[in-house]
Amino acid sequence: MCADSPEVVIDLDAVQRNFAIATSIAGPDVGVAAVVKSDGYGLGLNRLIEPLVAGGCRTFFVADLSEAYRVRDRSTEATVFVLAGMKRDHAEPCRKNRFVPVCNTLAEAVAAAEGRCDYALNLETGFSRFGLGPSDVRSLMHRSLPQPVLVMSHLACADDPANALNELQKNRFVCFSELLGPTRRSLAASAGLFLGPAYLFDLVRLGSALYGLNTTDLVPNPFMNVLKLRACLVDVRHVHAGATVGYRSTFRASRPTRLGILSIGYAHGLAWSLSNRMIVEIGSHVAPLVGRVAMEYVAIDLTDVPDQLCRPGQWVELITKDRPADAMARAGGTVAQEVMLRVGAACRRSYLAIEHGKEA
Ligand SMILES: *Cc1c(COP(=O)(O)O)cnc(C)c1O
Repeated sequence: MCADSPEVVIDLDAVQRNFAIATSIAGPDVGVAAVVKSDGYGLGLNRLIEPLVAGGCRTFFVADLSEAYRVRDRSTEATVFVLAGMKRDHAEPCRKNRFVPVCNTLAEAVAAAEGRCDYALNLETGFSRFGLGPSDVRSLMHRSLPQPVLVMSHLACADDPANALNELQKNRFVCFSELLGPTRRSLAASAGLFLGPAYLFDLVRLGSALYGLNTTDLVPNPFMNVLKLRACLVDVRHVHAGATVGYRSTFRASRPTRLGILSIGYAHGLAWSLSNRMIVEIGSHVAPLVGRVAMEYVAIDLTDVPDQLCRPGQWVELITKDRPADAMARAGGTVAQEVMLRVGAACRRSYLAIEHGKEA
């Protein structure tokens, strides 16, 4: 019997393995850091740290100081980079807890140095978001600041290997970073891992791939699926041919139809744009979603599913190994990261523990 509310099931073993897969792709000379910002892409930062540390991960990237503390609480050794940069009043917490702010401006770098904090520098090479440009780098050369512990930049089009911006960003990154003297460098995130050794430098910042997303549409996906989303079948009803389903009657039954009602809707992060546009799994069978996604519920067509599976209390799976978040994103017109974040943040989470492969 299922619970009333939908559930995401997170496989921590798969997260650990994905870290190992990325490490082997990166090769022995390149480190891999885990990006656990936005509460671990919605999967729950607190639960991710321990398996990653056990798997050999020593470097984490978080969004802000509150997330940095959560990593530190679970690993006293880890190097924790804070993407939000060096804000006012951050010197003391960064120094005391050995957090490394990723400085996005000259002023932030100066503040970090004056606060005697290790700092990283983010260079703007073509993303047009944050980071020091060429003139900032020149000004920095004339200051006698301590060296940054890491110089980094972020690729805009790494998931499109043919895009000329990749090489342009890499070349700018090499030029700017060389002006700053010898230091560790990082350019690639998940998709950049597949652009070749010239893009890897000293450290890959692995987010999406850690959580099993297939950022470059490789067949088969080299990473393991981490996430399942399941919802409870709460009602089953029969309608005649010609009956319409849900708000604005966007689905019309072309035959006598057995409908199932699932207790999941956009309140639980299921995109409204998936209305009439996805397939769910029930046992080893599939059923299409019919009608519009409502706030708490959505309907599926169970006509072709065996009777014994069509009983209230049955779990129905919406994200699976065969139908991962990438597929749901394509169907819903969004990106897999948004899918994962929304359902992860909105649904109850349960975790498959590493040791036993059982739900903890
Ligand atoms: C989010 C983020 C990453 C991780 O990107 P993925 O594509 O999810 O691996 C890496 N670097 C920076 C600066 C980021 O903001």
